[in-house]
Amino acid sequence: MVDFELTEEQKAACKMAHEFALNEMRPIALECDKEGKIPDELIKKAAAAGLTAMAIPEEYGGGGLDQLTAAMVSEELFWGCAGIATTLGANSLATTPMMIAANDDQRQRYFPRLCDPDDPKFAAFCLTEPGAGSDAAAISTTIQETDDGYILNGQKCFITNGGIADFYTVFCTFDKEKKYGGIGAVIVERAYEGVSIGKKEDKMGIRASNTTEVIFDNVKVPKENLLVPMGQGFYNVMTTLDLTRASVAAAGVGVARAAFEEALKYAKERVQFGRPIIAQQSINFMLAEMAMKIEAGRRLYQLAAWKATKGLPCSLESSYAKAFGGDLAMEVTTNAVQIHGGYGYMKEYLVEKLMRDAKIMQIYEGTAQIQRLVIGANLMGITDAYPWG
Ligand SMILES: Cc1cc2nc3c(=O)[nH]c(=O)nc-3n(C[C@H](O)[C@H](O)[C@H](O)COP(=O)(O)OP(=O)(O)OC[C@H]3O[C@@H](n4cnc5c(N)ncnc54)[C@H](O)[C@@H]3O)c2cc1C
Repeated sequence: MVDFELTEEQKAACKMAHEFALNEMRPIALECDKEGKIPDELIKKAAAAGLTAMAIPEEYGGGGLDQLTAAMVSEELFWGCAGIATTLGANSLATTPMMIAANDDQRQRYFPRLCDPDDPKFAAFCLTEPGAGSDAAAISTTIQETDDGYILNGQKCFITNGGIADFYTVFCTFDKEKKYGGIGAVIVERAYEGVSIGKKEDKMGIRASNTTEVIFDNVKVPKENLLVPMGQGFYNVMTTLDLTRASVAAAGVGVARAAFEEALKYAKERVQFGRPIIAQQSINFMLAEMAMKIEAGRRLYQLAAWKATKGLPCSLESSYAKAFGGDLAMEVTTNAVQIHGGYGYMKEYLVEKLMRDAKIMQIYEGTAQIQRLVIGANLMGITDAYPWG
């Protein structure tokens, strides 16, 4: 039986997230975009509302949200401001490898740090490198075992919250010759000697979020911070992305919904040729198309997130949802600017920011092409985690 009814808990989580997006994020979204940063006060309010540690289990002080509820909350927060929401949501990406593989000691040492409302900390997911983006198995950050732990060397790039994180989940290679068979992961604290922040990126969109290089120069990592042993790292990355992509798809739906609402309002108000432009069939159909696709995007991410919540395989559905959600955000925001005409091109109008923010949805956590690669491989009956390498 298909049941579209949300639970009371899900309705409450979405309502709370929407009110936070409306009352706390929207009023400062344009300013945060312009300044490229978020006021500490807002981060504290978000932490107090549980929005920086949504997926961390309740026993460590987190929200304990399942993937479906977390994805619906993501839609609301990205409706508010994609830059701020990316900052808040990055903890979930960074901690999913830990939810999969961390032992009790690691959970107890690190999860509570993200849940303290008075001193909220961030974590960051470190996979991408200058020479390894879509081809994640090509990473060359190396880890060497020593008598009392490990030595880590390498450079990560485009890391969300890289410059503000307290600790990092870092994917690295024990043996580059082994390609994806050589990959593992460690938890690295910002305070460790040899960890430094490189270039801070000046981005097109999601400008409020912090994106930097993170450099590891002979960093001593204690034995107890090994998160994923050699050989299991690639599986951990793929499983992590399968679980988190529904939330990125939901982010795309949230940005698209924000743009649709702006476009609908404007089309009813703007009069040309003696009547509101919504009465022109080409504009009316554009809005109809937006409404229909937003609904489809929401159902796709909900299916992927529901499967993830149930512990069912969700790789294919996550890629459907992520590919669709990213394209949806780009198409709807572009058309929303079009409906605004010249005004939509101006920074005073929200749709200008939304169109810049939307582009990232087709890039991070696996590009639009990589999602199609996963879908295409499935069509050929290839469900191996690395069919294209
Ligand atoms: C703002 C921002 C935040 C990010 N945050 C993080 C983060 O927190 N942690 C992290 O680890 N990474 C992060 N990333 C990195 C992001 O995941 C990568 O940028 C993305 O995976 C693509 O890698 P790339 O940029 O190297 O592009 P490339 O892999 O070089 O791709 C370039 C183009 O080629 C296409 N392409 C590549 N291979 C194929 C193929 N086999 N078939 C068809 N087309 C292909 C791609 O789709 C793309 O269009 C972030 C990136 C950005 C921009």
